[in-house]
Amino acid sequence: MYINGKWVDARSGKTMKVINPGNEEVVAEVPAAGAEDARDAIKAARDAFDNGVWSRIEPRKRSELMLKVVDGLIAKQNELAELESLSSGATIRKSSMIDVPLAVEHFRYFAELAYKKDPYEPLPWVNFPSVSWNFVVREPIGVAGQIVPWNFPLLMAVWKIAPAIAAGNTVVLKPASYTPLTALELAKIIEEADIPAGVVNVVTGSGSVVGEELASNPMVDKVAFTGSTSVGKRVMELASKTVKKVTLELGGKSANIVLADANIDEAVDGALFGTFLHAGQICESGTRLLVDEKIYDKFMDKLIARGKEIKVGYQMDYETTMGPVVSATQRETIESYIKAGLEEKAKLVLGGKRPEGFDKGFYVEPTIFVDVDNKMKIAQEEIFGPVLAVIRFKTVEEAIRIANDSVYGLAGGVWSTDIPRAIEVAKAIRTGTVWINDYHLINAIAPFGGYKQSGIGRELGTYGFDEYTQIKHIHVAVAPRKSKFWYDLLLE
Ligand code: NAP
Ligand code: MG
Repeated sequence: MYINGKWVDARSGKTMKVINPGNEEVVAEVPAAGAEDARDAIKAARDAFDNGVWSRIEPRKRSELMLKVVDGLIAKQNELAELESLSSGATIRKSSMIDVPLAVEHFRYFAELAYKKDPYEPLPWVNFPSVSWNFVVREPIGVAGQIVPWNFPLLMAVWKIAPAIAAGNTVVLKPASYTPLTALELAKIIEEADIPAGVVNVVTGSGSVVGEELASNPMVDKVAFTGSTSVGKRVMELASKTVKKVTLELGGKSANIVLADANIDEAVDGALFGTFLHAGQICESGTRLLVDEKIYDKFMDKLIARGKEIKVGYQMDYETTMGPVVSATQRETIESYIKAGLEEKAKLVLGGKRPEGFDKGFYVEPTIFVDVDNKMKIAQEEIFGPVLAVIRFKTVEEAIRIANDSVYGLAGGVWSTDIPRAIEVAKAIRTGTVWINDYHLINAIAPFGGYKQSGIGRELGTYGFDEYTQIKHIHVAVAPRKSKFWYDLLLE
């Protein structure tokens, strides 16, 4: 683990194994940190913040050092893609074409923002109750405890570390236990970029120990969490004891709505891409597909035919388009939802089983249910696997109502050739992101985050940067003493 600029084992000497979900072989062994290791890291981050080695240097200098990290990521891109795929089950196609390039671009975005974003924000001239000049200074919050999931291990680490350090904070990052490797590799790149010791610390260990320490330790000023809604609630509860700032990126059950005037071939591909990319293990996946009954039959024939073309296989083979899910436990959860779908009388039209020909690895077929009612478990709960629930609708109003009938509010899609109308539908959906005639397209400048139980706060863009800043108001009296009439109330 990387604590205070040094590579260390857990104080207890304990380790945990990283398993390849495609063949169940051990990929690596990493330290299994205890609360004492987490406290070492928090102390290091606290000292590094308080002594100003990072928080008080010129933003331009921070930016220069962060751009060296970008160079380091680019130099190691192939190695990173391979490690990411080996441990998370992401296809090598995806990790080399999406995960690593986005990690580079998003780190670069925040490295540049570190000096482009002016920390001074002027306010309009004030005449009442006295004449004064006012402005706002954005300052770093302090120590950020950051907890990330296993679905996009490198990218999620970048979304946490890059905006935080760009704004001058120091961090302790806890990767998910299944996938700690690329976060450790990122720490190595950060070390090689000469970012001072203690600014970034990466502690590998379980959520219930290291995660809870980060969420509750009084020396931590902010907790940033990405993961399930249930753990997010726990993190918020722990953080409340010392009133930490909290941002949460949680689960979703996003609706992908196909209107009758959609380009059907594009919408079919968008529906499959929106659900089965990364075997459905993406928080904003469009796992509820809402299709207008006027085009339903034609649409579904094409969807099923095209869905059969998805090639399930070992994630390291370039031919594979859908790899395994992350773990045996995750596969069991997914299978229990498939069972629930059948019990609730949804109709299975594709997949539903473990694919043939694999005696090792956590594979699940791309699975499609039709005749789904939005009240069913498979339409209400996040499955986090390759399972699509298709719901038919009669009117656009009905589609909007179904889309919003969810405790979640992360994202969604609208497919239509009538763009003004699609924008009206997008506005009516209560989620943080809506794609029109597209899906999963995340970019550095656009805010990402959830309404309702999908979270609090935003990542990416200047919005994501601002989540790592405190705003301080500074008031400068301009008028002479005699015009400060409030003073007269006390001192005549
Ligand atoms: P998870 O079980 O909530 O775990 C996420 C992280 O929290 C892991 O690092 C985990 O550590 C840690 N953790 C577990 N228990 C904890 C506790 N009591 N206190 C503090 N930390 C704790 O989620 P997951 O199963 O890894 O990931 C899937 C979920 O993440 C889905 O619900 C998905 O929608 C959500 N997600 C959301 C977004 C988004 O941006 N909104 C993005 C990606 C994923 P261990 O690994 O050691 O358990
Ligand atoms: Mg979990």
